[in-house]
Amino acid sequence: MNARPKKSFGQHFLHDRRYLDRIVASIAPKDGDTVVEIGPGEGAMTIPLLAAARRMTAIELDTDLIPGLQARAADVGELRIVHSDVLKVDFTALARELGAERLRIAGNLPYYISSPILFHCVEHAAAIQDMHFMLQKEVVDRMAAEPGSKVYGRLSVMLQLACKVTPLFTVPPGAFRPPPKVDSAVVRLVPLPPEQLPKGDAANIYKVVKAAFAMRRKTLSNTLKGLVDEATIRDLGIDPRARAETLPPGDFVKLANAI
Ligand code: SAM
Repeated sequence: MNARPKKSFGQHFLHDRRYLDRIVASIAPKDGDTVVEIGPGEGAMTIPLLAAARRMTAIELDTDLIPGLQARAADVGELRIVHSDVLKVDFTALARELGAERLRIAGNLPYYISSPILFHCVEHAAAIQDMHFMLQKEVVDRMAAEPGSKVYGRLSVMLQLACKVTPLFTVPPGAFRPPPKVDSAVVRLVPLPPEQLPKGDAANIYKVVKAAFAMRRKTLSNTLKGLVDEATIRDLGIDPRARAETLPPGDFVKLANAI
């Protein structure tokens, strides 16, 4: 226990029992669930999750933490530790390998790569039942933001097109060792059922969302020049003078399908 936390791995170990209990209660793992934790660290969340799920998988990049974690888990349940960068883990293949229909993913994420991890998980959404993540509160606010909000942007649209996003509670810096500089928050992501997923080309949706938010203050007819012309935007029932920050996620799909 109590290894020196490494800044380069984004290590902030959660030690406040009250927040750990709230996270585990929010996940409510059951015997038989296929739980996968991203970045178990010293096992603050792993041990209570393992106690409930009986067997689980954890993905950790820092080799130094693995033997201690394995030892701590020995009497609790069956912990399989995958030593890897989570961005290299194919969750669809992992679910198949673990014989699970879908995975329950959880983690107090390393903040330096939180957005890439979110996008990576969304790519494998069909193999995921739900996700519970601790992130910077500012990121959770952006994930859940609605059109018209100052923080509504690419992250909000791309995540909300794939998942139901529910912010759960805020966690103060003092709950971690060392304390991060910002407030954190726990969020639940539940992938949408296939019939609610956008019917459109993912690459085009990404292109439209990226272009539309590249200059937040500009109108759609400006930002989408070269992708969708003004008359087409109007024909879709969308005001070409509107700005991306006012458009609901579904409108970006309509625009993408008009490319
Ligand atoms: N779950 C522990 C806790 O709550 O105390 C540790 C959380 S700490 C914020 C993030 C963890 O992610 C660290 O254990 C760190 O080593 C690990 N990590 C960092 N980058 C990673 C990556 N690319 N892939 C997998 N794990 C990573």
